[in-house]
Amino acid sequence: MLPAFSYVRARSVDEAVARLAAPDARVYAGGTDLLGCLRDGVFTAGTLVSLGTVAELQGIRQTSNGGLRIGALTSIAEVAGNAAVKERYGALGAAASVVATPQLRNQGTLGGNICQRPRCWYFRGDYSCLRKSGDTCYAIAGDNRYHAIFGGNGCYVVHPSDTAPALVALGASVRIRGARGTRLVAAGDFFVGPDTDVTRETVLAAGEIVTEILLPAPPPGMKSTYRKVRARQSWDFALAGAAVALTMRDATVEAARIVLSGVAPVPWRVPAAEQALAGRRLDAKTIAAAANAAAANAEPMDQNDYKVALVRGVVAEALEACA
Ligand SMILES: Cc1cc2nc3c(=O)[nH]c(=O)nc-3n(C[C@H](O)[C@H](O)[C@H](O)COP(=O)(O)OP(=O)(O)OC[C@H]3O[C@@H](n4cnc5c(N)ncnc54)[C@H](O)[C@@H]3O)c2cc1C
Repeated sequence: MLPAFSYVRARSVDEAVARLAAPDARVYAGGTDLLGCLRDGVFTAGTLVSLGTVAELQGIRQTSNGGLRIGALTSIAEVAGNAAVKERYGALGAAASVVATPQLRNQGTLGGNICQRPRCWYFRGDYSCLRKSGDTCYAIAGDNRYHAIFGGNGCYVVHPSDTAPALVALGASVRIRGARGTRLVAAGDFFVGPDTDVTRETVLAAGEIVTEILLPAPPPGMKSTYRKVRARQSWDFALAGAAVALTMRDATVEAARIVLSGVAPVPWRVPAAEQALAGRRLDAKTIAAAANAAAANAEPMDQNDYKVALVRGVVAEALEACA
């Protein structure tokens, strides 16, 4: 059952920031993750501050420097269907189109997708785990088949978002607003691993709001895509996924970014795989070398070593799609 809370609709970002100063206040975007967390007792909320009617947080538009600005309250469905996203930022379009179900993509927002909490069944369940300020990660001795193979460092949740790795691969930035003003953070620095702070997944401080996501103008020759493997084809979180963004000159890769989903507590960049591509023709040999490099430093737990092969496969598939 949902606990009692107050609900207010902000009409502007300024009003939302002011309302979020209330004790135990939380941002409510589409509510698709938030309400589940409240129902399951993952955290509490005194006040939910709805951003749904804040017009300045909506929509997708071109920026003066040739990039794209996506308001944090833009629905995932709108991101997936936007012509400029699909043509110029294929990884984001592909990632948004495989998030959850059509209903959740209509209701869920891009800002909410990158701020959602992990799906680990110990974190979501009735366990006082490390991420809920307890003293242990139950996945270590428990059922860890869906857990991290990279970057666990004491807590082995995986980051649940499909759009987050695409945004990191595309070099996006996240605009944040709070009582102290505005700041712009690279998407690659927005996510916080357990080595930094095991109780949160982003750099957001209490009361801060993601207001927009900025994509830079794609360099000439950029190709990008996202692939994910899931247990059910209809809808599911990634068991493993890969966002790739390549800057190509003819058939040669000039620069590459590869970011994995479903395998680490944060979107997981694999520099060794990127280096295996840089300066090389994107042929079968190079793709195999990059796929192997992507999985090389995995540290599987006792029930999830199948993810190592999935990483190799999904990276190869994404690169083949770009070739
Ligand atoms: C059945 C199911 C299947 C799913 N499958 C997938 C999947 O395959 N891939 C995937 O990526 N996701 C999946 N999801 C997650 C879903 O995409 C998220 O629930 C959704 O993206 C969250 O968006 P929202 O707008 O509803 O956020 P909310 O639920 O409103 O918020 C989520 C969290 O982010 C915070 N928040 C929201 N917006 C902001 C903001 N602008 N600034 C600061 N904090 C903010 C909230 O306070 C809350 O803690 C699934 C969810 C469900 C229920």
